[in-house]
Amino acid sequence: MGPYRRTAAQPAVTAAELAALDAQISACRACPRLVAWREEVAAVKRAAFRDQEYWGRPVPGFGPADARILVLGLAPAAHGGNRTGRIFTGDRSGDVLFAAMHRTGLANQPTSVSRDDGLTLRHVRIAAAVRCAPPDNKPTPVERDTCAPWLHREVTLLRPTLRVVIALGAFAWSAWWPTLSTVYGVRPPVPRPAFGHGALFRPGDTAGAVPALLGSYHVSQQNTFTGRLTPAMLDDVLRQARELAGLD
Ligand code: SF4
Repeated sequence: MGPYRRTAAQPAVTAAELAALDAQISACRACPRLVAWREEVAAVKRAAFRDQEYWGRPVPGFGPADARILVLGLAPAAHGGNRTGRIFTGDRSGDVLFAAMHRTGLANQPTSVSRDDGLTLRHVRIAAAVRCAPPDNKPTPVERDTCAPWLHREVTLLRPTLRVVIALGAFAWSAWWPTLSTVYGVRPPVPRPAFGHGALFRPGDTAGAVPALLGSYHVSQQNTFTGRLTPAMLDDVLRQARELAGLD
């Protein structure tokens, strides 16, 4: 899997390095259950999308190689990222997330519908802790751990500029701790800080070389339709991330 360590003193990753990692991720077949599920969904399709060719593969991260903020989700949606090939693209969760990113100056447009829709992000990269769509949105612990090295490699590449990680939901929050130890060599605190909307863990690194972790309720329909997560709440988290990342 290659070296995990890249110090802040090293030059920023090139877009080509990240693109090469994305291509490797897109070809991964390490989890038999998830490979079978993502491909079955891609073959059967949802009626509304029956004329489209589904991606049906792992969904890599999206956003620039010099990102200062990483938005970390759980996994691609079966008929969203697994259909379009771009994370949070083509589903209701993405509608909420990208509208907020556009309002807060992190995206050039408020919608994300397909890989060729012209969307570009500024200062932020989006990735999932598990790269394949899981049945019922629930990866097993083994699948979570099998996929973790992809996140570790991505964070290693982003490390020179990365300053804040936004964990969308408790799954992503807990996925960060092994990344912290593997990539940064920082032992996670015991007990681990609890996830919550607005929860903030700052590693006490005054140089800012180890990213802060900021919690947000996930942008799932379950949260946004019920008002548990409102657009204003999401905007606040993104603005706080901008501030922590030194963008404002
Ligand atoms: S979930 Fe991750 S490790 Fe498993 S097959 Fe998909 S990309 Fe590979």
